[in-house]
Amino acid sequence: MYTSSNVSVNEKGHLVFAGMDTVELAKEYGTPLYVMDEERIRERCRIYKKAMDEHFGNGSIPLFASKALSLKRIYEIMTEEGMGIDIVSSGEMHTAKKAGFDLSKAYFHGNNKTDFDIKYGIENNIGYFVCDNADELRAISLIAGEHRITQKILLRITPGIDPHTLEAINTGKVDSKFGAAIETGQADSLTALALSLDNIELCGFHCHIGSQIFEYEPFVDAATIMLSFIADMKAKYSFEAKELNLGGGMGVKYTDSDPEICYSSNLNGIATLIKKKCNDLGINMPKILMEPGRSIVADAGITLYTVGGVKEIPGFRNYVSIDGGMPDNPRYALYQSTYEAVIANKANLTPDYKCTLAGRCCESGDLIGEGMMLTKPVRGDIAAVFVTGAYNYSMASNYNRIPRPAMVMINKNGSYLALRRESFEDLCKNDI
Ligand SMILES: *Cc1c(COP(=O)(O)O)cnc(C)c1O
Repeated sequence: MYTSSNVSVNEKGHLVFAGMDTVELAKEYGTPLYVMDEERIRERCRIYKKAMDEHFGNGSIPLFASKALSLKRIYEIMTEEGMGIDIVSSGEMHTAKKAGFDLSKAYFHGNNKTDFDIKYGIENNIGYFVCDNADELRAISLIAGEHRITQKILLRITPGIDPHTLEAINTGKVDSKFGAAIETGQADSLTALALSLDNIELCGFHCHIGSQIFEYEPFVDAATIMLSFIADMKAKYSFEAKELNLGGGMGVKYTDSDPEICYSSNLNGIATLIKKKCNDLGINMPKILMEPGRSIVADAGITLYTVGGVKEIPGFRNYVSIDGGMPDNPRYALYQSTYEAVIANKANLTPDYKCTLAGRCCESGDLIGEGMMLTKPVRGDIAAVFVTGAYNYSMASNYNRIPRPAMVMINKNGSYLALRRESFEDLCKNDI
């Protein structure tokens, strides 16, 4: 079974997550159910916060990447932990605002901010836009002018490195819909344009090299390229970047075959080499920002399902069907992401039944995993899938008109509802 300090088995043989019996949780709140460990989320925020304070100081903070998990409760936690946030839409901004998050600590990303997004950001005193391209830069300048303000921005740069990860989620290479590449000279021209436009204050640069990166070297490579670029821009335009945002992407242990990651030593490694590089280049160390998403919330979450049919096809495989699937977790369908699962009410028994965990949608690709090892379940058993805290709820859909699950959070005082289960009325509320 997946091992983590917030996972255990009790005397009834039930899976315990963050100190609570998951079979009881399923009974109390129903399934499918997202379950989040609030203490784990806070712990991770503190690791990033502490490392960045200690090594970089100078106002350097981690920004939680909202796209991994966006709901009001997460922004309340981020406020309490002193985190900044990265957002990619007005919808995420609106959710953060509703939760009382201070939007001056928000960075607005994405390769296509609409005029509405830019206005909405400016009217809500957003801290920064991370500007992706020349068209957007001109639009921000224009709209900031109409509002008689000077808008802080960073420019998104593609440093052109491959952090040896999945192609589909690798966004740092030259051929990317995101940002301007250094290699092609476009990063240089975008900088020149930003410096020439009114109502814009260029504060520095951003890069995001990809996701599920286990080592710290790719981040150091990216930082090295970015710092050299900063030195070039200083030499060429006498522009000294005050901020360098290194993006997100620190890996997460999704299954027991993934390595255990020590986030604080990774951050120490990155910090040491950044300081040395700044020294070598003769530039002041900029304010450093990082944007962890999955490494804050992924292993703080599990999903509970109720098993329906168990079907054996002789000579082929066994299917275990559950009452959720791609509408609440599309990651296997999208990227063949691997997950581990357990039968929560039989967590003390040997997992000797090889099977495919299948969702309930009318779609053959609606699977949570293939070749998974479970204890053979029967209809009514509870299946738990581990490490579903990131990119599950935030990617959830109503495909097949299936209501989104509820989300329960666990803290020292017990469990509480952070999201109520969608109702059939919710499904029809926009139908005319
Ligand atoms: C996706 C993304 C992140 C977060 O990535 P994780 O792998 O979840 O840490 C951060 N910044 C940007 C710009 C992103 O696109």
